[in-house]
Amino acid sequence: MIDLHSHTTASDGALSPRELVREAVRRGVKVLAVTDHDSTEGLAEALAEARRHPPLEIVPGIELNTDVEGGEIHILGFFIDHQAEWFQVLLRELREERVQRIYRMAERLAHLGCPIDPHEVFALVKEGSAGRPHVAQVLVQRGYVKSVREAFDRYLRNGGPASVPRKKLSPEAAIDVIRRAHGVPVFAHPGLSGKDDLIPDLIRAGLQGIECYYHEHSAAQTEMYLRLCQTHDLVATGGSDYHGPHLGRSNHLGSPWVPAAAYEALRRRAAGADSGQILA
Ligand code: AMP
Ligand code: ZN
Ligand code: FE
Ligand code: FE
Repeated sequence: MIDLHSHTTASDGALSPRELVREAVRRGVKVLAVTDHDSTEGLAEALAEARRHPPLEIVPGIELNTDVEGGEIHILGFFIDHQAEWFQVLLRELREERVQRIYRMAERLAHLGCPIDPHEVFALVKEGSAGRPHVAQVLVQRGYVKSVREAFDRYLRNGGPASVPRKKLSPEAAIDVIRRAHGVPVFAHPGLSGKDDLIPDLIRAGLQGIECYYHEHSAAQTEMYLRLCQTHDLVATGGSDYHGPHLGRSNHLGSPWVPAAAYEALRRRAAGADSGQILA
C-alpha cells in the first residue's frame, strides 16, 4: 500500500512526523511521501522513525502552494534533495511570507467582526508553516464558527473575505525549484484547483506528473487525469493528503488506493533514468 501525500506538524498536520509514521505502520502503508507545505522540517524525524519499521519507505517530499488568477495550484515535489542550502533558504522565505500573511488575515478578520491575535495562531503553528488551517482553529477556539469547515466556507476559502493570496511563487517557478532540487514536480489534486486549462503551460514549465488518485476527485475526474498522463507522458500519482484525525477535510492514510507503479515511475524519473513511460 502506498500513499504519496501527507502532512505533519511541520506544516498544518495534527501528528508529529513520528506519530504520522506510526499511523502509517498501523494502516499497513509501505511507502509514504511526507509532503509538508513549504517545509521539509519533518523529514529527518520521519526518516529516523521509519528506519525502525522496515520495510516502510519514506519519500522525501514537499507541497508548494501557489496562487494563480482566480484560484490556487499546489505543486508536489518528490525525491527532492531537501538538504540543499539554497532550497532551505527559499523555503524559509516562503514560511516568512506565510507569517506576514497571518497578520494580514488577522486584519481582515478584525474588519469582519472576528478579531484574533496573530500570536494565538503562532502558538498553534509552533515550528511549522503557518496557514489558514491554523487560523481556522483559532476562529473555532474563539467561538466565531463551529468548525474548521465553517471557518473556510465563511472566511478563508479561496477568494473568501479573509483570504490573502501568496505573491512569492508562481506554479511555473515552483516546478522549476523542484526540478533544480532534483525532485519530480506533480500537480496536486487538480480537481480542487479547477485550473485544468493551465496544465499545458505547466507541462511546458517541466511538470512531470498529476495527482490523479485523490479522495475528492470523482471517478470521471480520475479517468480524465489518467488519460492526460498517458497523452503527455506524465506520472500518475495519488495520496490521502492526510492532515491528522481532526483537521479539515481529511482521509485516512493509505486511502485512496494508489498503484505501486506510480511509485516506481516516480523513482525512475527522480533518477533521471526514465524518458518517462507510464505503467499503470
Ligand atoms: P494555506 O497553505 O494557508 O493556503 O492553506 C491551505 C490548506 O488549507 C490546504 O492544504 C488544506 O489543508 C486546507 N484547506 C483548504 N481549503 C479548505 C477547506 N475548504 N476546508 C478545510 N480545509 C481547507
Ligand atoms: Zn495542508
Ligand atoms: Fe494541497
Ligand atoms: Fe496537501
